Amino acid sequence: MVMGSDLATAEGCDATLVWGRNYLHYDFGEHPMTPIRLDLTVSLATELGVLDHLEVVEPVAAGEERLLSVHSAEYLDAVRRASKDPGYHGYGLGSDDNPVFAGMYDAAALIAGGSAQAALSVWQGTNKHAVNIAGGLHHAMRNSAAGFCILNDVVLAIRTLLDAGAQRVAYVDIDVHHGDGVQAAFYDDPRVLTISMHQDPRTLYPGTGMPTEVGKGAAEGTSINLSLPPATSDDGWLRAFSAVVPGAVHAFRPDVLVTQCGCDTHHEDPLADLALTVDGQRAAYASLHQLAHSAAQGKWLALGGGGYGVLRCVPRTWTHLIAEVSGRSIDPATEVPHRWISDLRARGVRAELPTAMGEGRQPDPTPWVPGGDSWLDRSIWATRNASYPLLGLDPADPRD
Ligand SMILES: [Zn+2]
Ligand SMILES: [Zn+2]
Repeated sequence: MVMGSDLATAEGCDATLVWGRNYLHYDFGEHPMTPIRLDLTVSLATELGVLDHLEVVEPVAAGEERLLSVHSAEYLDAVRRASKDPGYHGYGLGSDDNPVFAGMYDAAALIAGGSAQAALSVWQGTNKHAVNIAGGLHHAMRNSAAGFCILNDVVLAIRTLLDAGAQRVAYVDIDVHHGDGVQAAFYDDPRVLTISMHQDPRTLYPGTGMPTEVGKGAAEGTSINLSLPPATSDDGWLRAFSAVVPGAVHAFRPDVLVTQCGCDTHHEDPLADLALTVDGQRAAYASLHQLAHSAAQGKWLALGGGGYGVLRCVPRTWTHLIAEVSGRSIDPATEVPHRWISDLRARGVRAELPTAMGEGRQPDPTPWVPGGDSWLDRSIWATRNASYPLLGLDPADPRD
């Protein structure tokens, strides 16, 4: 387990950030998924010089013919109608979770296009990484909006990789919620391994993601679900990750690693009940980075996702993500730049703001061994027991 990236070199890694101010039009209004979280992340990353170490590319909206590889024609029509009709209801649109807003089709298609561009830049390079923090909208289904997600950019990115020639794509989703839309899209496709780590679905939206969901037909064994007890913190989360994710991804031998890097696992997140710190989330990204190099020839596409701690979590955690992707991780002891703080004060923010890029924790997980009786260890075992034999691995051997 790598706690800080040991992959950073003087040159860093070859990385692309897909980013444009037009992403901020994905705006539900008074809603947890505010675009302010993206704006504040990019301003913090800019202040810290993180953006100097990646190629920054403007997103281009995905065209309808590409979106039809992810969504039905009737659903795309519904999103277009909803974009012009504030009273629209249907296909999951116009609900409390997915309110309708003017221009929603274009805003969602831009994010989807950004993830597809990021995917292509990874596929076409050697040892290449890319990140789209506006992406990771993993709940959208073929025929409906769900969980703040209108168009599923993750599925489009993976289809783009497959269409470009990837034989096997591994997808690791560390958002606090189950990556249900991505799992559903590839549930019977043996070319795509989906692994989702999330809070126990009996206690959280969307209610799916039990270890028994393993894929079907020729794809049996290519859906993996690791369901974590509420209140799981850094060390427990990292133990669970190490016990399941690297072994499964290595066994699958992917051509490329796609990760959904939602940060709603944070202890202050208003929508969920895990208890990671910024330091634990940073360690998780370092582990994904290492996994891309060890298991996927360095091909790594990192997407955003959930994260509703708009001031104190998302900007720091995703700045760490962008820095990690660039191969130049940021020391968690680094001060939060005064200009970033004074800009927020000037905008009228009174809340307590962080002063350092970390929370002073140093994750130190104990490796998993079989036989543990805690809720967490039983959860790890349930996943290994259900999924590892289908990948030719021994669930009881901690080296697998
Ligand atoms: Zn790298
Ligand atoms: Zn989430």
